[in-house]
Amino acid sequence: MANFSKKYYFNDKYYNWFYYLCTTKMKKCTSLDGHISTFCFVKRIIWKSNFCINLNKMLDKSEYLHPDKECLSRQEIEALQLERLKATVKHCYTNEVYKKKFAEAGITPDDIKTLDDVRKLPFTTKQDLRDNYPFGLACVPLSKCTRLHSSSGTTGNPTVILHTQKDIDEWANAVARCLHMVGLRPDDVFQNSSGYGMFTGGLGFQLGAERLGALTVPAAAGNSLRQIKFIKDFGTTAIHAVPSYVTRLHEVMVEQGVDPRRDTKLKVLVIGAEPHSEEQRKRIEKMMGVKAYNSFGMSEMCGPGVAFECKEQNGLHFWEDYYIVEIVDPETLEPVPDGEIGELVLTTLNREAMPLLRYRTRDLTRVLGRTCPCGRNHVRLDRMKGRSDDMMVLRGVNIFPIQIEKILMQFKELASNYLITLTTDADNDNMTVEVELEELFTDDYQRLQKLQKDVTRALKDEILLTPHVKLVPKGTLPVSEGKAVRVVDKRTVYQ
Ligand code: ADP
Ligand code: ZN
Repeated sequence: MANFSKKYYFNDKYYNWFYYLCTTKMKKCTSLDGHISTFCFVKRIIWKSNFCINLNKMLDKSEYLHPDKECLSRQEIEALQLERLKATVKHCYTNEVYKKKFAEAGITPDDIKTLDDVRKLPFTTKQDLRDNYPFGLACVPLSKCTRLHSSSGTTGNPTVILHTQKDIDEWANAVARCLHMVGLRPDDVFQNSSGYGMFTGGLGFQLGAERLGALTVPAAAGNSLRQIKFIKDFGTTAIHAVPSYVTRLHEVMVEQGVDPRRDTKLKVLVIGAEPHSEEQRKRIEKMMGVKAYNSFGMSEMCGPGVAFECKEQNGLHFWEDYYIVEIVDPETLEPVPDGEIGELVLTTLNREAMPLLRYRTRDLTRVLGRTCPCGRNHVRLDRMKGRSDDMMVLRGVNIFPIQIEKILMQFKELASNYLITLTTDADNDNMTVEVELEELFTDDYQRLQKLQKDVTRALKDEILLTPHVKLVPKGTLPVSEGKAVRVVDKRTVYQ
């Protein structure tokens, strides 16, 4: 199988598709090797015949941009991962920092014989990236690198990730695969409302959408009036935005009398880069009248394109030809069983400039499954619960902002913007949840009071503490251009 792909791997997507047919359909009858010559023969005929045109048509309807990777069986995925893991580990071993870490762990690249041996490898953390800032973890000379990106620094100093041109190309392929998976094609118009520059959501989606062949609108962040004008004038069919920004965009649309269903050609939203609840997603879909697909990425892993929902919307498919996915207990660092929440740990499998071994993302999630009605067997993970450092500890209770969001979004009277403030009063930690009202009915005091009570009770049931709930008029709370800031911690004594 591995030989086959090396020898007869064609970049051309038509060949890939045909290769997929051969490998999946033919191997059922007999051994694949016996069919290699048939495959080449048929390939030549196809290329020369009119069948090519029909094939082309069929491919337009194809669900898979990279069928040879997207449709691998679990066995094939794991074989590919092992091959790539061995190569990655050898490559890392050329770097002095990794060499030292390997020595401390008492291993050499030769100890990686099976996929489970990944657990012998030392973890990499954000601190490692900071300690070796900026280029200490580079595994190629700087002259081979063509770009660097840095994280948005949500939780401290930024970190740097270097890329070779091949890394950038592979990244574009991964993002293109994701966009194709949710139905985008070359005749789509893709508008990106991410900040460009160091933030990877900008250039990452830009290159991916270009690789797909869509017409791209690099609108960049903010300026909602301009975004809406672009959507209308250019016939935008798909937008990428952080979920909190979609809500803002919709508010401005309403102010401008623009109905996304009536006045735009939108058909897909790509939302990601920040934690959001299923309830928030449903709300966004309802307000914009289109499907919203969850996109997961992080600058350490290139950026967007790490994982995406398929049309089934049943979890995030992590691309396992690019990454080894582990979920570990953040305390013991031992693997947790499927279905249990733990920390996501990722190992890059095809990065040249700065491969990362067992990178502790601090994102908390769980495995949902390894098959999917969409035909992809790449592992499906639940939407992120948040990062371990997003967790608030209040009077000994662990709370994630997403838990609060989930409850707030269940009240149709409440809008999507909210802010959690933690304070210390009389030696006690308190939480205030300010949330905007969907419509202004501040004159109806009784109704407001009842709503406030209901929200408080529902929150208490979820987080086991009673927060102060403040209902505020729409547009009162701050809106950030990038990722939403949901928690302000003003406590004097941190727990
Ligand atoms: P920073 O680490 O400074 O925030 P990044 O832009 O690299 O910079 O952010 C990556 C992080 O964003 C992830 O580790 C994760 O916590 C969060 N994130 C990205 N996409 C999603 C998503 N779809 N759902 C939840 N969280 C996400
Ligand atoms: Zn799927």
